[in-house]
Amino acid sequence: MRIGHGYDVHRLAEGRKLVLGGVDVPYERGLMGHSDADVLVHATMDALLGAAGQGDIGRLFPDSNPAYKGISSLVLLDYVMERLTQGGLRVGNLDATILAQRPKLADFLPQMQKNLALHMGIPPERVNVKATTEEGLGFTGTGQGIAAHAVVLLEP
Ligand code: MG
Repeated sequence: MRIGHGYDVHRLAEGRKLVLGGVDVPYERGLMGHSDADVLVHATMDALLGAAGQGDIGRLFPDSNPAYKGISSLVLLDYVMERLTQGGLRVGNLDATILAQRPKLADFLPQMQKNLALHMGIPPERVNVKATTEEGLGFTGTGQGIAAHAVVLLEP
């Protein structure tokens, strides 16, 4: 088996939708980015690519490519999964943590898990998504941005 870790950060800004794990989360601000800026899916893709030894999403989906502007990150995840499947790898499980002071995310976590499981082709029980505040500390704690960590296991 192979293990991979992913980490990502996006800045919060006015006039953007907040999309986390493919879920539109109601909030007064959203994450800035070239795609939908879904920080959880980005961390997940980097964990998958890391475990597969295939670099990172910056290399695969460069910001300079207009094809990825505003794109749903779940579509990018489908592309990553296609590569892994072609390489004879499948996902064992995913464990992820979102670092956000606000909004409260507990009610949305089950749907994020379902979305990620569906797009990775595994049962939802093999996906765990957690959220934590940062006690008001740092850029996540002061609401400047949202970060996410992800760890995945790949199996042949
Ligand atoms: Mg990102």
